[in-house]
Amino acid sequence: LVSRKKKQEDTIVEVNGARIGKDVPTFIFGPCAVESYEQVSTVAAALAAKGQKLIRGGAYKPRTSPYDFQGLGLEGLKILKRAADENGLAVVSEIVTPGHLEEALDYVDVIQIGARNMQNFELLKAAGQVNKPVLLKRGLAATIDEFINAAEYIISQGNDQIMLCERGIRTYEKATRNTLDISAVPILKQETHLPVFVDVTHSTGRRDLLLPTAKAAIAVGADGVMAEVHPDPAVALSDSAQQMNLEQFDDFYGELQKFMKTHAVM
Ligand code: PEP
Ligand code: MN
Repeated sequence: LVSRKKKQEDTIVEVNGARIGKDVPTFIFGPCAVESYEQVSTVAAALAAKGQKLIRGGAYKPRTSPYDFQGLGLEGLKILKRAADENGLAVVSEIVTPGHLEEALDYVDVIQIGARNMQNFELLKAAGQVNKPVLLKRGLAATIDEFINAAEYIISQGNDQIMLCERGIRTYEKATRNTLDISAVPILKQETHLPVFVDVTHSTGRRDLLLPTAKAAIAVGADGVMAEVHPDPAVALSDSAQQMNLEQFDDFYGELQKFMKTHAVM
């Protein structure tokens, strides 16, 4: 059902006035994790000032080590929702288990399914049964075919509001945290009718690569870009090496807008 062969027209996912998959690229910015109201409201205000429609922030954090910050859970979603509401933004946040889905629905506008859960089939099926858009991230070691099949799990349950997100895959290369598979973008656009995002933060793991990879994403036809923004990345409880502070975000955003103008993407 996600195949272009089944449906030729692009699927457009509408969230808070953003028409994802149509018009201009849509951005999903925000901190890696929700840490406090002050933290997310600072970022939310900066995003609203730029006319952004969405904010991200993890409340349930799937961390490699059990001793790392695990997120604030439902409390984190409530905090993020409050800051988002105050700034006219919609909330994008990861859900890690079907058991959390129901309670999260009051606070989340877009359900993110993370790389580690791309083949959590029960979670995919559960997300397929709700009436909210889903942002599905590519698994760390998933082929494009497996990625498309994961989306198929969601749509097969009735939910066709799905966005795909390339976020880098694991290779032998150590210069970046993951290897951004940029060719996945045009392939996913050809093979499916779903909007495609590129997460430049988790794919590169490097602040200096956020802008060039975001430009590349837009150049190959991505419908949107995700990147992490934190008021003070040095003290961030997760992903402190690659989140942008507000000044860096300002530069990043300005340069990306310039790029989009010169290349008539907007
Ligand atoms: C995230 O976006 O917060 C995240 C954990 O990313 P990924 O699932 O792609 O690793
Ligand atoms: Mn992160």
